[in-house]
Amino acid sequence: MTTIGFIGLGNMGMPMAVNLRKAGHEIKAFDTSPAVLDQAAGHGMKAQTSVSSAIEGAHFVVSMLPSGKHVLDVMVANDKLAYAQDCVVIDCSTIDIASCATFHRTLSQRGIRTLDAPVSGGVGGAAAGTLTFMVGGSDEAFAQARPILQAMGKNIIHAGDAGAGQAAKICNNMITGISMVAVSEALNLARRLGLDLQKFFDIASTSSGQCWSLTSYSPEPGLVATSPSNRGYEGGFASELMLKDLRLAEQAAMSSNAPALLGAAAASLYAMHCQAGKGRLDFSSIIQMLNAR
Ligand code: NAD
Repeated sequence: MTTIGFIGLGNMGMPMAVNLRKAGHEIKAFDTSPAVLDQAAGHGMKAQTSVSSAIEGAHFVVSMLPSGKHVLDVMVANDKLAYAQDCVVIDCSTIDIASCATFHRTLSQRGIRTLDAPVSGGVGGAAAGTLTFMVGGSDEAFAQARPILQAMGKNIIHAGDAGAGQAAKICNNMITGISMVAVSEALNLARRLGLDLQKFFDIASTSSGQCWSLTSYSPEPGLVATSPSNRGYEGGFASELMLKDLRLAEQAAMSSNAPALLGAAAASLYAMHCQAGKGRLDFSSIIQMLNAR
């Protein structure tokens, strides 16, 4: 049996850890939220009271934390953490390029194999075990971790060396953030033009407007059964996390001199949305801001 230390069991981490448990692995779960730890125990995981006990004796450590600061604070800053020999540390969080480089460099200096393996597919993909993993790191670490990632995802892509997974993720989420604003603007306009929104959805989802933000994650309730819009925008991918990702894309675009005008506009809209107190709502709730104007 493989022992996996899992750190950060929120909207994404919990269903991912549940799938690892279902695959027969022993899960040592750590989260700062006691309610989350109770839930983990209910799923047959071993709830831990510290990062160090979650890591102790683990063949793999998987983290799913909010940001780069969390990843560095939890797994890198403490040089007393006793990772097992041959342990592979897989960070699945979406984090900035600089923190990702520090994560790889510091742990590899301590002789630990590391992968950055951010995901796409949302909470639905995490629950269904159909996530796409974009992985950065050595061939050896990737080969070792692949069966673990396959228990949580459908598409496991080795993007390149350390950091390549995060680079791919930032670019992907720039598309998602921009396209969610585009879909929200179009649905809002369609309503104001007196269109039946179901009919407009049927047309756009089979026309050139078709995209994931429309057909898999519609911001308008009643069009796609699994969308967070049907649950009052609770759960899902928080607007504050989308803002974080769009800011990461802006930073990366500036440092590589790449034009990213729509990315910057989407970031400004999400910043206004978060300032209005909607940061914890799913990012598709951006449509509320447009509808209200
Ligand atoms: P979340 O806020 O629901 O979960 C984060 C979890 O980390 C929480 O349970 C929190 O208690 C825990 N945590 C925070 N600090 C901690 C610490 N110091 N030690 C241990 N646990 C700690 O966030 P999420 O939606 O699950 O997202 C997690 C990561 O996945 C983010 O980087 C996000 O960008 C990325 N992501 C999210 C989605 C999505 O649809 N939600 C999709 C793809 C990627």
